[in-house]
Amino acid sequence: MTFHIITIFPGLFDPYLSDSIIKRAIDSKKITVKLYNPRDFTKNKHKKVDDTPYGGGPGMVMTVDPIIRAYKKARGRSEKKKFKTIILSPGGEPFTTEYAHKASQTYTDIIIICGRYEGIDSRVKKILKAQEISIGQYVLTGGELASMVLIDSISRQVDGVLGNKSSLEETRVSSHEMYTRPEVYEYKGKNYKVPAVLSSGNHSEIEKWKQGR
Ligand code: SAH
Repeated sequence: MTFHIITIFPGLFDPYLSDSIIKRAIDSKKITVKLYNPRDFTKNKHKKVDDTPYGGGPGMVMTVDPIIRAYKKARGRSEKKKFKTIILSPGGEPFTTEYAHKASQTYTDIIIICGRYEGIDSRVKKILKAQEISIGQYVLTGGELASMVLIDSISRQVDGVLGNKSSLEETRVSSHEMYTRPEVYEYKGKNYKVPAVLSSGNHSEIEKWKQGR
């Protein structure tokens, strides 16, 4: 899976991509993340990527042209690939695990456009026939965090990214309550114990307990 991220803040991605499971997935070429900065695709000498909104209103809007040019660069010349184009937007369709799973099985390349300021000129969506996706009912200052959420959640659905496939919650009956050693933890004079059933060795009782959570 290749993620193409269109962002005016590519530096925000380095720390996240250079650690843990995502780093391993990149190193083993299960996923690739490419960054495109619309500022590199501007034709004006100030590398300006925003302008005031038609009809008035607060803030600035990201202009069409640098984003379309960045998109074209991401698409490249290959026809064989299966591309999906997503624009991150607080008003978009909700992002879910089901969406992540389908995307991981359907596409070879996902282009994700991160907004900033008041958002992106709506013609970008029309021209690219892009889908607007929201990661939740709150407003962020930009799409970068949201795109990392998508990268993370879709990547763990890509074959081989999680060492153990049964780690995917949706493939097993799972309790949201988890415990590990020690069996008893004392805090302010009170003992916090692991539910006895979990160390009982009785597998059918353990399964029943997990399903009841
Ligand atoms: N006034 C704008 C807010 C833009 S927030 C509006 O109501 O649409 C700036 C950018 O952050 C957006 O363009 C989008 O790319 C990103 N963003 C903010 N909240 C988001 C969310 N919940 N999900 C996905 N992207 C979000």
